[in-house]
Amino acid sequence: MFKQDQEIFNILLATVSEAVIIVDSHQIIVEVNASAERIFGYAKSELIDRELNLLLPSNYHLEHATYFEKFIQKGKPRKMGEARDLYGLKKDGTIFHIEVELNPFKIYNKTYVMALVKDVSEKKAIERNLMLRTQALQSAKNGVIITDAQRHDNPVIYFNSAFQNLTGYSDAEILNHNCRFLQGKDRAQPPLKKLREAIKNKESCQATLRNYKKDGTMFWNDLYVFPITNEHGNVTNFIGIQNDVTLRIKSEEERNHLATIFNESLNEIYVFDSDTLKFINANYGAQKNIGYSLDELKTMTPLDIKPDNNKDEFRKKIDVLLNKKVEKVEFETEHQRKDGSKYPVEVHLQLSNLSGNKVFVAIILDITDRKNYTTQLENKVEERTQQLKMALSNEKELNELKTNFLSLVSHEFKTPLSGILTSSQLLSKYQLTEHQEKRNKHIKIINERVHFLNNILNDFLSVEKLDTGKVNYTLNHFKLSKVVNEVVYNANMLLKEGQKINYPENIDEISLYQDEKIIQLIFSNLLHNAIKYSPEKTAIDLHIKQDNTNTTVLVKDRGIGIPKIDQKRIFERYFRAKNVINSQGTGIGLNIAKNHLENLGGTISFKSEEHKGSTFIIEFPNKAKL
Ligand code: ADP
Repeated sequence: MFKQDQEIFNILLATVSEAVIIVDSHQIIVEVNASAERIFGYAKSELIDRELNLLLPSNYHLEHATYFEKFIQKGKPRKMGEARDLYGLKKDGTIFHIEVELNPFKIYNKTYVMALVKDVSEKKAIERNLMLRTQALQSAKNGVIITDAQRHDNPVIYFNSAFQNLTGYSDAEILNHNCRFLQGKDRAQPPLKKLREAIKNKESCQATLRNYKKDGTMFWNDLYVFPITNEHGNVTNFIGIQNDVTLRIKSEEERNHLATIFNESLNEIYVFDSDTLKFINANYGAQKNIGYSLDELKTMTPLDIKPDNNKDEFRKKIDVLLNKKVEKVEFETEHQRKDGSKYPVEVHLQLSNLSGNKVFVAIILDITDRKNYTTQLENKVEERTQQLKMALSNEKELNELKTNFLSLVSHEFKTPLSGILTSSQLLSKYQLTEHQEKRNKHIKIINERVHFLNNILNDFLSVEKLDTGKVNYTLNHFKLSKVVNEVVYNANMLLKEGQKINYPENIDEISLYQDEKIIQLIFSNLLHNAIKYSPEKTAIDLHIKQDNTNTTVLVKDRGIGIPKIDQKRIFERYFRAKNVINSQGTGIGLNIAKNHLENLGGTISFKSEEHKGSTFIIEFPNKAKL
């Protein structure tokens, strides 16, 4: 039947690029075209009268048979397997993707089916590839967007899930919008300028921007944008790849901050190679104090800045670190600056790693101040110790003086008191009229002794008053002659055999505005001493002089004098020179005189030579000012 129209039929079949396979209702191949031979790799003769299953992978046979039955019954042309993939089987065993269109027809009451088979393996491969890429984009960790460069304002037409996860915006908020919504109000960032420029020029660009999520959180977006061109060279799209580098930037910032601290620290920080010992780095503080630049230091080792330059010892120190015996080594040494000056330092050494190499990090503390401070402290302690020692020995001396004083006092009081007792006992015995002379003698003795005791008591009271600051000076105008007369009169009673006092007569003009009682006390103290410490038959001179402002009184004796060694302490309270031990006294008088004179604006001084005599000079203002 087919043979009749062979000519026309052949021409038709040959022009069709799809494989045409005609089967009867039993799926026996009755005709194929050249494309069918080419696609399936069989010669026509090998296919005619064979079952269609020959061209199908065996796992489809059953399924196909059922399908074919149904199809024949329906009798309508249709595309096969639209919802699923169909496969053909080549002669060489290759299984490949096909698309099949079935057209049933009837001739002379017989049913035939014409199958148009298309080899779609290439198309399918492209499709799969595309899908793979889309999948890849979707599963990428980086946010990816594609924009349409040919539409107004370059809107987003594709975004992957990473982009959405990163930014938190909804589909509607992303799609068909320009990407600038990510910048929020932060539109003045310098990298944006670069980005806008690149997009305008249709070039690729990388920029790290501050972007904002839907919830307002800022994140650092490391953005890479590049254009896609079509076959005419026109940019149709931009692809943007977003990378959240917030953590990296933060840790970079932290690292930078640490680096800044390292650099700007005023402590000296050095890094040097553990092997060659050459400096690798030195911070600002180091360069500033040591005086070398980093370039200079890079040619040097720590030994070059140590005046002692003891390599073995230094090696020993760092070997402990290299052997991991300790984590840190600390020691004090001396460093030498470029200008030659040296300074004490405390070195803190640690081992560290720099790009896989062992290096040492040395932190150096300039301890000049600390050292100075320590020296100062030591000096201070020494000074204080000396002061304490001195105070202690003063205290000891004072105690000795006090002890001496107490024994003196008891002695001072005992002698006159026993004198008074004896005289008063004798007095009661001299009752006859002719005993009057003897009575007078004893009354004089009693008088003297009482006077003496009174003087001592006055001295003690003065001391007490001076110590407690309770002295009240009473200033009044008086004639000096009055005081002199009284003092000399009283002193006369104490004179030893042949002693005499030479005192000036023409002093009536001299008047004073002073504390009369005190001036008298000082005068009598000096005069009594002169009498006490001079032998019999010597003269005591009293000189008095007055100028416009001051009055000077000089008491000169020719007595035992004061030993040189005791002279500097003569005004100390309770002090008595070695050569007066056998005579009565308290060691108070001169001290009181000096204190009073100083309070009244005057001075006291003396010249003395042992065995020759002493001269005491007092000077005080004519008008006391308190
Ligand atoms: P006192 O005479 O009671 O011992 P003073 O204070 O008056 O105490 O004198 C202190 C010391 O100064 C005396 O103990 C004595 O050693 C010495 N001294 C004072 N005046 C004279 C003097 N004119 N000649 C020698 N020594 C004197």
